[in-house]
Amino acid sequence: MHRSDSRGVFDALVVGRGAIGATAALGLSRCGLRVAVVAPAQPAPSPLDGPGTWDSRVFAMSPASRALLERLRVWDALDAARVAPVYDMRVYPSGREGAPELHFGAYEACVEALAWIVEGSNLSAALGRALSFAGVEDIDARVEAVDCTAPDHAALTLAGGHVLRSRLVVGADGARSPLRTMLGIAATERDYPQQAVVANFETGLPHRDCAWQWFGEHGILALLPLPGERASMVWSAPQELAGELLGHTPEALAERVAQASWHVLGGLRVLTAAQSFPLRLIRVDRTIATRAVLVGDAAHVVHPLSGQGMNLGFGDVAALLDVVARREPFRDLGDALLLRRYERARREAVAAMRLTTDGLQRLFGDHTGLPLPGLLQPLVGARELGWRFVAGSSWLKRRLMAHAVS
Ligand SMILES: Cc1cc2nc3c(=O)[nH]c(=O)nc-3n(C[C@H](O)[C@H](O)[C@H](O)COP(=O)(O)OP(=O)(O)OC[C@H]3O[C@@H](n4cnc5c(N)ncnc54)[C@H](O)[C@@H]3O)c2cc1C
Repeated sequence: MHRSDSRGVFDALVVGRGAIGATAALGLSRCGLRVAVVAPAQPAPSPLDGPGTWDSRVFAMSPASRALLERLRVWDALDAARVAPVYDMRVYPSGREGAPELHFGAYEACVEALAWIVEGSNLSAALGRALSFAGVEDIDARVEAVDCTAPDHAALTLAGGHVLRSRLVVGADGARSPLRTMLGIAATERDYPQQAVVANFETGLPHRDCAWQWFGEHGILALLPLPGERASMVWSAPQELAGELLGHTPEALAERVAQASWHVLGGLRVLTAAQSFPLRLIRVDRTIATRAVLVGDAAHVVHPLSGQGMNLGFGDVAALLDVVARREPFRDLGDALLLRRYERARREAVAAMRLTTDGLQRLFGDHTGLPLPGLLQPLVGARELGWRFVAGSSWLKRRLMAHAVS
């Protein structure tokens, strides 16, 4: 039986309590709206107070993402001692001695840092505190159905039968977004023939606030700086290799990663055991429906090689807040014209990031011979040449850098 909720009509209901949903809810409530977050409660992350305990889910947050979190007063609530800046990035084609490195620097990009490495647990703790201070209602439930047929609201049915009503529904329920399916939005999904293996290490040499990346037969290996002499690994490895990495003893894993990274950080010691994540590309037909918008992984999933998935999601939130803040006073929050403004504002940035990450992955990090998208087609069969082309093209480097910091 469906029971209408006595809480009346919300301005916005955000479905999903990941970093993107939490930020969207916080931002919308700071616009003076009545907002609730709806998601099933997740097990509390284990405390990371010990100096030797580091979350292996880390995010490279761009200057634009930092600016959004500063505006929402979340950035200052992060534990700053656990955040590491990235001033340089060095990228290599593995096993190709003499091939030029790709170097990106904060100085050349005229930004304070290229990115900041933040642990997932640090980010979600700061967002959780900000949400409760802002008075955002937190509803612990799974959404089971959505009905957008009423003229002035959308209705969400929760597990257990409660019905919540809202002018706008924001879908932030992740890559497999049940809300997206309920809204009838089609998604195209392609699995990469890789898994991301993540782990943290203590390093024998200082990282000098630099992030490293190697592309090659072994997939794409990235080492990101953590505070002190520590680094976080994201190794997008072919399935078989990922299995081997996950099966290694801590000592064998440390040695394997040190070798694959040309010992740039000296000897390594495992701090956080290896974990793996599936890698896929998800492209949706639309990011809006009647009285609903999709943000974050619900709207797009890209390969993590450039560490931009979460940043794209923060870009969605910034665009949505902008559209909401600039709306004409007479316009309802679920007005189709407003939603179309949001969709238009994000279309180009999302498509460009998908093209860049997917193209680079297929060109340099995947040796299965999958066809390349149009822009990179001239580089097929000439990976070595392709690398030199990217490394030697200041235009392409500027484009890549512009993506990385925006
Ligand atoms: C290995 C790896 C490394 C990465 N590194 C980076 C990086 O360095 N920088 C970067 O920018 N990005 C990175 N990414 C991408 C980033 O992890 C994602 O883009 C980001 O976590 C997506 O956040 P989200 O809030 O959209 O979704 P999620 O974090 O998946 O949150 C989804 C939420 O929806 C809830 N939910 C699900 N179903 C329902 C339902 N029926 N009803 C209600 N709620 C529901 C869930 O409980 C959860 O709270 C990386 C990804 C991978 C795999």
